[in-house]
Amino acid sequence: MSTELNPFAIAQKQLDEAAKILKLDEATHELLRWPMREFHVRIPVRMDDGRVKVFEGFRVQYNDARGPTKGGIRFHPQETIDTVRALAAWMTWKTAVMDLPLGGAKGGVVCNPKEMSKGELERLSRGYIRALAHYIGPEVDVPAPDVYTDAQIMAWMMDEYSKIVGHNAPGVITGKPLPLGGSAGRVDATARGGIYCLREAAKVLGINLQGATAAIQGYGNAGTFAHKLGVELLGLKVVAVSDSKGGIYNPKGLDYEKVMAHKKETDAVINFPGADNITNEELLELDVDILIPAALENQIGEWNADRIKAKIVAELANGPTTPEADEILFQKGVYVIPDFLCNAGGVTVSYFEQVQNFYLYYWDEEEVHKRLDAKMTSAFHAVHETARKYNVHNRLGAYLVAVSRVVEAMKLRGWV
Ligand code: NAD
Repeated sequence: MSTELNPFAIAQKQLDEAAKILKLDEATHELLRWPMREFHVRIPVRMDDGRVKVFEGFRVQYNDARGPTKGGIRFHPQETIDTVRALAAWMTWKTAVMDLPLGGAKGGVVCNPKEMSKGELERLSRGYIRALAHYIGPEVDVPAPDVYTDAQIMAWMMDEYSKIVGHNAPGVITGKPLPLGGSAGRVDATARGGIYCLREAAKVLGINLQGATAAIQGYGNAGTFAHKLGVELLGLKVVAVSDSKGGIYNPKGLDYEKVMAHKKETDAVINFPGADNITNEELLELDVDILIPAALENQIGEWNADRIKAKIVAELANGPTTPEADEILFQKGVYVIPDFLCNAGGVTVSYFEQVQNFYLYYWDEEEVHKRLDAKMTSAFHAVHETARKYNVHNRLGAYLVAVSRVVEAMKLRGWV
């Protein structure tokens, strides 16, 4: 991977810019540039054919000055320690920008879950927790699902941890199934949080969202719910969507239920009746009001930023825009709602899940939505006002808010 596109190099570069503006001293800056602690583990797993296969796993606890660290676990064949470090850093800034009493972490295992049986996945999940049980916990570090891990995997992990500590410990992990202490409202929380941000952005920019056109890249959890809620809550007209196989475009708008049914039937959005097939590159450059990247990192770079026509880019994906593209979009007047603010709805409802686990008392969906709205709205305005005050783009504005809060906690603890 080139240095420019190494996610951890990008995360450090973004922090460096904030550190310069905040005039951080050398020790404080150094402490924030690297994870506080990281674990590299080897996990032996008995495979179905009787062989033992050894998997490599990571857990990075980036910074816990503001509280127990929090962050998902990815199962992915291309997982690297640098990806996990970057995601752990972004979790630190994400929990801080949302003003949650938490730090940031991330975990990963190098494996291909698509080639593993359910039994092998269960043994790997339990093995990962056995390797790390003494270093995680409800008041230490709380994992959650991420790419290719789901509620069932969280259930096995919670069960393994509970056996090791000798009592039921639902608060060790979030994203659990509802009967095991999961939270109402978790499934669409990421997209919902982004939609609340979009609503606030339109208010400050004076844009009417009723009938405004939108294109969504990525049609998984984040992208599909952004389509549904964008239409339901904001009255958006979603004219283009895509997945890894390509995209579709219809200037008259795409019906959510019909696209979902087509995707379920054909395992792709392309060839949807009445729409034109387009490439993912074309989707990004469409003449729309709102662009929602909800797929992968590094989609908007210096190679295409100049051709982005949307007025607002709402980043549900992590890391879709490179630092060079941030500058170009800022100069062009494109309003970017940066990833660690825009997609923070998921971790915010995960935090609500922790709170409910501690309480042993559970809220209904309406209560979760109300509390999520309040949190997203307040974080959005903190970022917007800071970016305006320093005349910088919103991502740097979000860094300034988040880094200041982490630094304040480190200073109060007497670390720096
Ligand atoms: P997902 O696996 O459910 O969906 C990903 C979608 O992206 C799929 O439709 C896939 O086909 C599509 N895709 C893959 N490669 C593509 C490509 N080259 N071009 C276009 N589309 C492509 O994942 P998700 O949970 O929806 O996550 C999407 C993004 O949102 C990721 O960056 C993730 O880190 C971020 N995110 C998700 C959550 C959450 O709660 N789900 C929270 C925070 C951030």
